[in-house]
Amino acid sequence: MKNHLSGNSDLGPSSTPANLQDRLRALWRLATDRTLDEIQKIDAMLEAATAAMNMETALVGEVDEHYTLSYLFDATGIFQTPWQIALHDSISHAVAITQSSLCLPDLSQDQHYREHALHTQLGFNVYIGTPIWVGEHLYGTLSFMRRTVLTTACSEDDIAFVELLAAWFGQFLLQKRQSEELKALALSDLLTGLPNRRAAETRLADEFARSQRSGETFAIAICDLDRFKLVNDHYGHETGDTVLRQAAAILVEQMRDGDWIARWGGEEFFIYLHKVDGPQAFAVIDRLRQAYAQHPIATPHGSLDLTLSAGVSVYQGGEKNIAHILAEADSALYEAKNGGRDRVILHQTAQRGLLWHAGELQSALQDKRIVTAYQIMVDLSTGAPVADEALARLVGRTGRTAPAAEFIEAAEGLHLIHLVDQSITRQAIMRCAARLDAGATPDFAHFINLSPQFLARSDLVKQLLELTQQICSSCAVTMDSAKPLVFEITERQYIANFDLLMREIQPLLDSGFRLALDDFGSGYSSFLYLAKLPVSFLKIEGWMIANLRHNLKIRDMIQSIVDLSRKQGITTIAENIEDAETAELLREMGVNWGQGYHFGRPQFDTPTA
Ligand code: C2E
Ligand code: MG
Ligand code: MG
Repeated sequence: MKNHLSGNSDLGPSSTPANLQDRLRALWRLATDRTLDEIQKIDAMLEAATAAMNMETALVGEVDEHYTLSYLFDATGIFQTPWQIALHDSISHAVAITQSSLCLPDLSQDQHYREHALHTQLGFNVYIGTPIWVGEHLYGTLSFMRRTVLTTACSEDDIAFVELLAAWFGQFLLQKRQSEELKALALSDLLTGLPNRRAAETRLADEFARSQRSGETFAIAICDLDRFKLVNDHYGHETGDTVLRQAAAILVEQMRDGDWIARWGGEEFFIYLHKVDGPQAFAVIDRLRQAYAQHPIATPHGSLDLTLSAGVSVYQGGEKNIAHILAEADSALYEAKNGGRDRVILHQTAQRGLLWHAGELQSALQDKRIVTAYQIMVDLSTGAPVADEALARLVGRTGRTAPAAEFIEAAEGLHLIHLVDQSITRQAIMRCAARLDAGATPDFAHFINLSPQFLARSDLVKQLLELTQQICSSCAVTMDSAKPLVFEITERQYIANFDLLMREIQPLLDSGFRLALDDFGSGYSSFLYLAKLPVSFLKIEGWMIANLRHNLKIRDMIQSIVDLSRKQGITTIAENIEDAETAELLREMGVNWGQGYHFGRPQFDTPTA
């Protein structure tokens, strides 16, 4: 840092200071030097200015009730940061009060300051100070000092130079403050004022590193407000925002010192708990859950009882990395949701087996171990194969194949289902194209299951349509009788907003895809779906089919579904047909197609049709 200006005799510590123009030119070169970062620039400019002023020390200090040193160049070695004194003990006090420059060429002769510690204790004789303004606000002072008296000190040029330099510092500090504010803004969530996910991830990485050094345990929790989507859908986003703000405030109020909370996304919060083991972490988070029961949320539509589900994961050293810890909390949260909500699950106690980690699912997706099995559908009156359904399978590292029923809901809970759908639809469409190329009839339909999460991603839907266009234009072209691709949506996931759903599926329908309602009869909104959506196929839920032979009521229900569908021109399909009697009964009742183990189990790449 030293000698930035060496070779420039104008600025050297000679007894004749350079003229104002030369001094400014040299400072300008430093201020615009791209090889220096901001702090190096300040140091270099203070050093250069000290030399140019023929001084020994340059200080930038902040004033409030104290004088606090922020930046300095000091050839005397007396000062160093951090350094703070009461403002009235500093000569900067006079500069701050008068808000103008002050030049004291000889402190020993100055009637106000000859007893001042700067002179009596530190031995300085010359003082020049000027205020620094940051925007409208008096930030502090820039002061220059020297121990030996200088007869030339305090020329008009000196004062002008110091004031220009102070103006530059003011500008610099303003920019610094603004960029710090922007940074803080980028790291905090505007709605709740909490740190946002990015900030939380950075902080968690620090906590993790600290825990590895110190050996102290910690736990994290991912908390999700139950059924929050309904609040948004029913009362609108403004109320949703109010609820989120209050929900966050309740959590913040309960935080212990040293623990912290962040907004993780949507209606999810992230909580960090220091020095806890599993049972302690569980107890803390469960207390948060209970706090909701005691604090109904006030909204313009009346008070609302919120509940909270949370997944907790503990780090007690060992092999786990941050991704593992997060995935564990995520899986535990999924289990809490799946187990009926309003509960806290600690990962340690979570049941393995049914539980899939985000990491496992992700690596299966990456390694292309999510594959497709196809299950045949037949025309019940002729017995001829008429369609098949693509069903996801996960091939484990040990070679075991898991059916979709084992991991689809986990994939939904872990926000990975859209990737499963993307992979399966790709495979199914390629296969459809290959079959058509090999001369198969386009009358044979190919069913694929699409999740609401996939449909909500217009980029993925667009990709799917582009792929179809590229490799299989005949798979989905609008031909009067043959549109081989059918997408199934299930009411297993409650869909509240039909208008939105309609907008999401419209591009698929426009491209010639047909729509099937899966698992019809499994939920209370079945008929609403039927009324609101342009349905071509209706798949009657497996439990109705399984109970059909022994339950007359169910038979009546199926009959009315069949009659209604026939009137609407909808093809009915019975799922889970496991025996010939049931197949025959359904045929008699007028159900069009059948699917189930009786006709064939899902198989890998079955040469159907
Ligand atoms: P689904 O679409 O209703 O599929 C029918 C399920 O019933 C399949 O289970 C199938 O293997 C099973 N099944 C078929 N015939 C019989 C039978 O005769 N008896 C019995 N007991 N079961 C039968 P799977 O493959 O485990 O799939 C379960 C669910 O997972 C599917 O129900 C579907 O909702 C979902 N799913 C499967 N693949 C995908 C996919 O690629 N994406 C999405 N979003 N969901 C999928
Ligand atoms: Mg299905
Ligand atoms: Mg089904």
